Amino acid sequence: MSVTANSVWKNCLAFIQDNIQPQAFKTWFEPIKPIKLSDNALSIQVPSKFFYEWLEEHYVKLLKVALTKELGENAKLVYIIKMENTYGNREPFTEQIPSSNRGSVNPQEMDVPIKSKNPELKNPFVIPGIRNIKIESQLNPNYNFDNFLEGDSNRLARSAGMAVANKPGGTSFNPLLIFGGVGLGKTHLAHAIGVEIKDKYPERTVLYISAEKFTQQYIESVKKNTRNDFIHFYQLIDVLIIDDVQFLSGKSGTQDVFFHIFNHLHQNGKQVVLTSDKAPVDMQDIEQRLLSRFKWGLSAELQNPDYETRISILRNKLYRDGVEMPDEIVEYVAKHIKTNIRELEGAIISLIAQSSFNKKEVTLELAQQVVEKFVKNTKREVSIDYIQKVVSDYFEMDVATLQSKTRKRHIVQARQLAMFFAKKFTKASLASIGSQIGKRDHATVLHACKTVDNLAETDKQFRKYIEDLTKKFS
Ligand code: ADP
Ligand code: MG
Repeated sequence: MSVTANSVWKNCLAFIQDNIQPQAFKTWFEPIKPIKLSDNALSIQVPSKFFYEWLEEHYVKLLKVALTKELGENAKLVYIIKMENTYGNREPFTEQIPSSNRGSVNPQEMDVPIKSKNPELKNPFVIPGIRNIKIESQLNPNYNFDNFLEGDSNRLARSAGMAVANKPGGTSFNPLLIFGGVGLGKTHLAHAIGVEIKDKYPERTVLYISAEKFTQQYIESVKKNTRNDFIHFYQLIDVLIIDDVQFLSGKSGTQDVFFHIFNHLHQNGKQVVLTSDKAPVDMQDIEQRLLSRFKWGLSAELQNPDYETRISILRNKLYRDGVEMPDEIVEYVAKHIKTNIRELEGAIISLIAQSSFNKKEVTLELAQQVVEKFVKNTKREVSIDYIQKVVSDYFEMDVATLQSKTRKRHIVQARQLAMFFAKKFTKASLASIGSQIGKRDHATVLHACKTVDNLAETDKQFRKYIEDLTKKFS
């Protein structure tokens, strides 16, 4: 059999697969396409520049070993990057980069001096009357990388944050968008990035601000006729961190001004870090042009922490507070509070407090009481599994049928209803709903939701299904 790009890559993959975690293999190697083999150089196509950087950062050694095994000592690897079409209407194009040649690929920070046209630039953080251009970073040093524990649920976001902190404006993660549900560490990570940059590059101007405060400042500036000052102020920042950008939804004036600030910063090699409670595809009432900017860099999700991570977060918290607690208590708390790190911390703080006020040891019983309060107080979110179960029962089919690929009308409708309710009653992203309901993609879920909306208006029988099911969920 003759050696082809395909056969070489296939052997490399077999070797790589034996040497890394299945999840990592799936994420970073399955999407790669072998393109061509000439002499001893294998060209592989990767989906984005970020992808390429990640491979070079984490897997270059492994790739080299695999390739050397196949092609000998002089083996070479060439990446072909499928660039997303981000500027204007040009066709997507590709860029070729040889492996381990980072220096030439990453043009470094351009520190373009910004000449302020207005020497009396007004700083929106300054109380009127005091003229001061010193910019406070608004960072909270207690939120740093040291106490942001790593786990599978946050590894990508955390590493990307680190990469940004090492080279603000100098990676392709610009903007870096961190998204995830409530209490999963978005704000913490956003501060950590800023704090780390201030440590490494004290001369850079870093600013952390919530999207809400940013909006208020903007509205103020419009009222006071200082909109230009507002814009100029933000254009001076080297690293702009905006927390909870979902708050901008529906606020077109603020979105517009942010769009201009963003472009200016991006063009000048400045770093933008954003957080949001949703992935860009799921954001509503955010202008398309802004959403497309969000997608320029990297969107990294903070997922629910797994058990191991929950345990280490609790242990770390106890350690920092100098408190000892029996393992069985820590494990009990970690086992029962699963979806929210803020609550996890809340429960342990409450336990520490109770034990020190009452000067008694924390018993499992006390832990049970505290945990119960926490779990009860948080409104239980119906799960996608539960929704599928209820919808299947209602239509007298099993869940596997509902998820199956069949196009039979009543099954399709049941599936679409399940997707519709999952969108309505959970915070899951369209992509995550799709993957849980029969491995569909986000477009299918979106289509399902629209179809259900339409049928609800035109079809009486269908409307009845929706009403019945809605009752079952509330
Ligand atoms: P969000 O902004 O996503 O709602 P926060 O950043 O406010 O969440 O995090 C909630 C709490 O959980 C904070 O006290 C934060 O320090 C803590 N926390 C979140 N992620 C981690 C982590 N990986 N390691 C340690 N503490 C964490
Ligand atoms: Mg937050």
